[in-house]
Amino acid sequence: MPLRAVLLDLDETLYEPGDSLICTVDRRITAFIAIHTGIPWERADRLRRELWCEFGTTARGLNRLFDVNERDLNRFAVDSVEPELHVTPDPGLAESLRRIRVPCYLFTNATRRYAERVLVTLGVRDLVRGIFDIEFSLFNPKPSPIFYRRVVEALSLPPAEIALVDDNPRNFAPAMALGMRCICVGPGQAPAGVTRVPTFADVPQALGASW
Ligand SMILES: [Mg+2]
Repeated sequence: MPLRAVLLDLDETLYEPGDSLICTVDRRITAFIAIHTGIPWERADRLRRELWCEFGTTARGLNRLFDVNERDLNRFAVDSVEPELHVTPDPGLAESLRRIRVPCYLFTNATRRYAERVLVTLGVRDLVRGIFDIEFSLFNPKPSPIFYRRVVEALSLPPAEIALVDDNPRNFAPAMALGMRCICVGPGQAPAGVTRVPTFADVPQALGASW
């Protein structure tokens, strides 16, 4: 099967883990939880991580458990962040994306506004054909199979002709169930059947070598 499209995660896949950008988003989410629930900062921060693990996004968990409007959280914690203060243009990333010979699409649990700004700041907006964001998922974040199915439908491609590149090992199971090819970026243990590469610079070769 030829490869016809690549789905790219955004945070900690297209830029380094531990970057101040994602830390800033996380701090603002914790602040939102502390303000809305009145619980102390440490507990709010723990809750943020627990909800992220259980629901895919903290916003989803807050919606389910505290009836929080997910758009309110995203406006406060995600759209308000200024990526320009945290990431810089990355010519190496641009070069890697140019080496991927099929259209690339962002596949992110973040908002479109945030994703657009991060891509522009990294200097790679023109190398990404489209963005599938949390609104497109109808607030069913990765790893909800609903998000994956919606994307496959929108692309009108057999899943076997689509590759997923992500840093979060939990996001691969629904992709593999559909028959997508998967590449895990970063130092973590990749699930069985998923190709692991140390950095994004290794992705074009992995895509070319494996398929
Ligand atoms: Mg990520």
